Amino acid sequence: MSKHDCLFCKILNGDIPADIVYESPTAVAFRDINPQAPTHVLIIPRKHISTINDIEVADHAIVGSLYDAARDIAKKEGFSGEGYRAVMNCNKAAGQTVFHIHLHLLGGRQFTWPPG
Ligand code: 5GP
Ligand code: ZN
Repeated sequence: MSKHDCLFCKILNGDIPADIVYESPTAVAFRDINPQAPTHVLIIPRKHISTINDIEVADHAIVGSLYDAARDIAKKEGFSGEGYRAVMNCNKAAGQTVFHIHLHLLGGRQFTWPPG
């Protein structure tokens, strides 16, 4: 899929509305439309990268910035100490449905392991 057809690029461009909770030069975060926890935020790079498989060495700072966002949002939402989950799905077996990488930040409840 080209970035022109990408749902999350459209959110970045402002073509599709989203509840944006965080912005940095390299990352944007917004609330998931179908939350799986009291807080469920999707943290995405401004750069279109389709899957984990497409991350290059030159993207390391960008990908690192997704975790900076997770840490800062978790603190702001008040569950840094209690704990939270930050997870990225890759391709079909993991259930990836939007092909612009996104870190799911889930917090505000107890999680189980292994995940389903
Ligand atoms: P994936 O299954 O690719 O790991 O996660 C995609 C996530 O995007 C899902 O949790 C889904 O609820 C969320 N999502 C899909 N469409 C939209 C949308 O238009 N707006 C927002 N905010 N989230 C969306
Ligand atoms: Zn995209």
